[in-house]
Amino acid sequence: MQTLKSYIDIVGHDVIDQLRQLAAPLKGRKIVHVNSTRMGGGVAEILAKLVPLMNELGLDTHWEVINGNAEFYQCTKHFHNALQGNAVAIPEALLRNFEEVNRQNAEQLRPALEDADVVFIHDPQPAPLLASFPQRKGKWIWRCHIDASRPHRPVWKYLRGFLSDYDASIWSLPDFAQPLPHPQYIIPPSIDPLSEKNIDLPESEITAVYDRFGIDPERPLVTQVSRFDRFKDPVGVIESYRLSKRFQPGLQLVLAGGGATDDPEGEVVLNEVYAAANDDPDIKILLLPSDAHRTINALQRVSDIVMQKSTREGFGLTVTEAMWKGKPVIGGNTGGIRLQVINHHTGFLVSTPEGAALRTRYLLNHRDILESMGNTAREFVRDHFLLSRHLREYLTLMVVLMSDHPDRVELS
Ligand code: UDP
Repeated sequence: MQTLKSYIDIVGHDVIDQLRQLAAPLKGRKIVHVNSTRMGGGVAEILAKLVPLMNELGLDTHWEVINGNAEFYQCTKHFHNALQGNAVAIPEALLRNFEEVNRQNAEQLRPALEDADVVFIHDPQPAPLLASFPQRKGKWIWRCHIDASRPHRPVWKYLRGFLSDYDASIWSLPDFAQPLPHPQYIIPPSIDPLSEKNIDLPESEITAVYDRFGIDPERPLVTQVSRFDRFKDPVGVIESYRLSKRFQPGLQLVLAGGGATDDPEGEVVLNEVYAAANDDPDIKILLLPSDAHRTINALQRVSDIVMQKSTREGFGLTVTEAMWKGKPVIGGNTGGIRLQVINHHTGFLVSTPEGAALRTRYLLNHRDILESMGNTAREFVRDHFLLSRHLREYLTLMVVLMSDHPDRVELS
């Protein structure tokens, strides 16, 4: 069982003391997080770590998950695609079902939500829950994890109807925030350095992935870890690998992914990836179960370079995870990747498969730069993207929202 104390070695005493200080006025308060999946994707990954730490700090914290039918997830996947800029027309029947599923979930969650002091609703899936609590006691915050910088307007307009009543919203980047009639806060996500996904592993466990997945330890390896989603551009990663391979014949590529229970499009994209890979023995397409955290950890560690060639990205925890392992990241020049990949310092930002290939070759031919960028990347994560910073910002936000004088907050 991890405790806040274990963080001291990583972030120092002061950081942990400050968390305790911030949590003191919130002791015993009931906090509920709601999202739409317990497994798969960045939100579940964060909540699995954030919730126990909030409890350890004395807040009475719960994590609830809404359930839906297949049409519900079809609809919410459309929302996801539309918020990230695709022009999607969503059939009326799917919208009515979305609202009905939320009403049913609201009834099931009523005991958990009606007396909560703070409710965090993550992403669009559970956004309409608030409408079923007209007499709410606590503060309700909508937390958007998506790259909503250029949403498809009709869908945003529809969703905005559910969001206006929230007491506040949280976005990962200033670029994502949208006009809404409540205070908006910018809080980027984070990784837990003590989780199975990120903790140091014994050398034998790291190298075991070579045999297990048929990777040659003597040849360079580029890896992308992602759900099979078009915004993650796995086919673009294969194109860039092919371009690099002309100059680096030994190059190997791992595309490691799996499904999230709330993502119905994965299979279609996966088939596109198989077609693009065309049975190339140096491309390993790995379908991993959602609890394969240590395997992903090891794969990130045996990689020379980690790629995250997304065309839209809310944040990109996979980028943070790789950087924490001292890997330079070649990332799509978009959304949350820009916050983490500081061009030429912690990795490279790219817009095309050609750009990704160029940077891959450059790094593989300049091992000293590859290594120093990786070290810079790790320190950048320590300073900005660990769970302790994330927790501090959530605690501060709750103190502010629950204060009688939100314009003047004393934390002594
Ligand atoms: N992940 C995983 N297995 C997979 C694919 C992804 O465990 O097959 C994890 C990945 O390590 C990261 C999270 O899921 O922690 C994905 O978060 P990210 O912010 O990168 O993207 P999202 O899926 O939320 O769009």
